[in-house]
Amino acid sequence: MPIKIKNLTFKYMTGTPFEKTALDNVSLEINDGEFIGLIGHTGSGKSTLIQHLNGLLKPTSGEIYIDDVCITAKGVDLKKIRQLVGLVFQYPEHQLFEETVYKDVAYGPRNLGLDEKEIEERVKKALEVVGINYEKYKDKSPFDLSGGQKRRVAIAGVLAMQPKVLILDEPTAGLDPKGRDEILYNIKRLHEEYKITVILVSHSMDDVAELADRLIVMYKGKNILQGTPKEVFKNVETLEKIGLAVPQVKYLVNSLNRKGFNINEDIITVSEA
Ligand code: ADP
Repeated sequence: MPIKIKNLTFKYMTGTPFEKTALDNVSLEINDGEFIGLIGHTGSGKSTLIQHLNGLLKPTSGEIYIDDVCITAKGVDLKKIRQLVGLVFQYPEHQLFEETVYKDVAYGPRNLGLDEKEIEERVKKALEVVGINYEKYKDKSPFDLSGGQKRRVAIAGVLAMQPKVLILDEPTAGLDPKGRDEILYNIKRLHEEYKITVILVSHSMDDVAELADRLIVMYKGKNILQGTPKEVFKNVETLEKIGLAVPQVKYLVNSLNRKGFNINEDIITVSEA
């Protein structure tokens, strides 16, 4: 499902003294099965951009095409778009509300009018993907789970809709390092096994550097840089100017480890030459 964004501009509170241009003539293309890291400082326009991708916000001007369907046109079937493009908001666990994990994950598929067998299969699969044991947790209250588990259940609820594109807004915010690693590992697996297109939004390079095929860097409502992590990291000066630190050690260690080296980041110390 290729996504094409053409000259997208969005203003909050147009025509009032509080008018704010949150997106300024953004043009982008995202290919099928890509893993995109959408990064930028707080307020750079990331959330505003992703809310356009499933029709939650309508552009002030510009167009968005998904699979050559213009989703910003009048009369488009937004229900269908939202099924194709799954959006996991910040702190998605705040939206858990059912009495059991099963019911919560089943909520979306049930609204699609699927039969119980299909719903159960989807719930099982979605929980498996996020690393939550179905038998052990299905009848538990989501409120009895740990923070990281709650978040993974909430993500499973979006996955149960079987979207072709998964967008996650700061999925590691507020988690401890273990919860963070679990979430990122699950997202990576999901992308690799199901070839789903992933857009991971973060203000931290650390989260996206090791996972993304391509980074899109936002600054004041514009996409000012894009490319592979390696290409983007070359622009150290620009990145520092806009408040993004390049994760050199971690990035290097992880990329070496992926190549089969077994390096523990903690043992690297900086010594004076
Ligand atoms: P990010 O996700 O990168 O933190 P946002 O898309 O949330 O950035 O915000 C982009 C700009 O739009 C910021 O200047 C922000 O203050 C402004 N903004 C975001 N949401 C609203 C809103 N509901 N009303 C007015 N301005 C907003």
